Amino acid sequence: MSRRPRSAFPSPDHDHRGCSASAIARAETLCASRKLRFTAIRRAVLKAVWQSHSPVGAYDILAKLNAKGADHAPMAVYRALDFLLENGFIHRISSQNAFIGCPHPETEHDSQLLICRRCGTVAEIDSAPVTRALKAAAPGFAIEQRTIEISGVCPHCRSGAHA
Ligand SMILES: [Zn+2]
Ligand SMILES: [Zn+2]
Ligand SMILES: [Zn+2]
Repeated sequence: MSRRPRSAFPSPDHDHRGCSASAIARAETLCASRKLRFTAIRRAVLKAVWQSHSPVGAYDILAKLNAKGADHAPMAVYRALDFLLENGFIHRISSQNAFIGCPHPETEHDSQLLICRRCGTVAEIDSAPVTRALKAAAPGFAIEQRTIEISGVCPHCRSGAHA
């Protein structure tokens, strides 16, 4: 009997406050254990990235932060994004010049980002066979940036759950 693997895409009606709250809490714990400063702006930017499972750009983050009466400069947001990227709390979607929260920042990992072109949702997977195949196919090449972006249509859009 073959079981269908569970989709990496979150159900459209899941309680996203839980995802966001747990991401912030984990970042807080990780920063404390790694002796990193989780400043107010770093926290606010991470929260803005986690507003959904769709990528968000730096200027949208800046607008969101400043809409609440703050007056952050673009540089401040970029620096916070760099910090979050360097420490694995977020990933960059190069094809959209935007960012997505990482659901498992505790461990260093490769990521394959599945990007739904209909609803914009991004699901992250870390497939060991994909990584092995890539290494085998590129002998002698020192791979540095190992994030792969794959576009398509998510299971929820395909089944009409987002209609
Ligand atoms: Zn969620
Ligand atoms: Zn990740
Ligand atoms: Zn979709």
